[in-house]
Amino acid sequence: MSQTPGTPPTRSHGRKTIKATLKPRSLMEDDDDLARAWRAQVITLFPEAFPGILGLSLTGKALKDELWQLQTVNLRDFGMGKHRNVDDTPAGGGAGMVLRPDVMGHAIDFAQRRVPGPLVYLSPRGRRFDQKMAQHWASLPGITLICGRFEGLDQRVVDHYGIEEVSLGDFVLTGGEIAAQAMLDAAVRLLPGVLGNAESAVEESHSSGLLEHPQFTRPAEWNGLTIPDVLMSGHHGEIAKWRQAQSEALTRQRRPDLWAAHQAGKDSK
Ligand code: SAH
Repeated sequence: MSQTPGTPPTRSHGRKTIKATLKPRSLMEDDDDLARAWRAQVITLFPEAFPGILGLSLTGKALKDELWQLQTVNLRDFGMGKHRNVDDTPAGGGAGMVLRPDVMGHAIDFAQRRVPGPLVYLSPRGRRFDQKMAQHWASLPGITLICGRFEGLDQRVVDHYGIEEVSLGDFVLTGGEIAAQAMLDAAVRLLPGVLGNAESAVEESHSSGLLEHPQFTRPAEWNGLTIPDVLMSGHHGEIAKWRQAQSEALTRQRRPDLWAAHQAGKDSK
């Protein structure tokens, strides 16, 4: 039995409706901006969880300013029968439930007609998300993220659509929604115009393969602790040198894996 819904209700966030217009081309800048905006789409059983934390602060302002768009696809809308079932027991037995491939397939077909860009399944078995992946995603026109629940997706969906699996880290969450918000946050803050100070994305942890140097602010003395003299010296050359040395020492100490990759990168240049 298969069911093809018509146009299921879906929600969109921070996005204007696109209407036909008789305005001349030169007056259509708003619509052009909308078409250029980075597009994120999330397939989920919990659309009400979005935009969530992404609706606040810099990512929220950028959403309102239409520097990016967020749309959700409610998997439930594609469910089977009166109860809109989306899951069934695992073949071969065992605990939990598995999301049905036919239901997820319909949701994916709908989503792919709407937003261009790759399909990603958030999964603890996937490649670990990192800053490079965030940079890559930010360079694409958009992305569609699939949030699993229960025991996850039927493997045939992953194989059929050639879906990439990406993990937030080596732990198991109840669902993909928190992972989706974390990854979208990392990508959105790299979009042009989202961070107030464009420099901050260039200098921070991981963008150079190193961890960031320690930060300090006023007051100059707190609980008997002072700010390193060099930072108060106003000498930009010395400050940059100090920060670089701190970055290197921290990375070497805390993340031998990053340090080794950094050294290997320097050698091959
Ligand atoms: N049985 C699965 C875990 C299912 S957890 C396994 O052992 O691999 C339910 C859903 O939460 C998953 O389908 C996935 O979408 C999401 N999830 C759990 N941990 C995650 C992680 N580390 N990164 C990204 N998504 C995760």
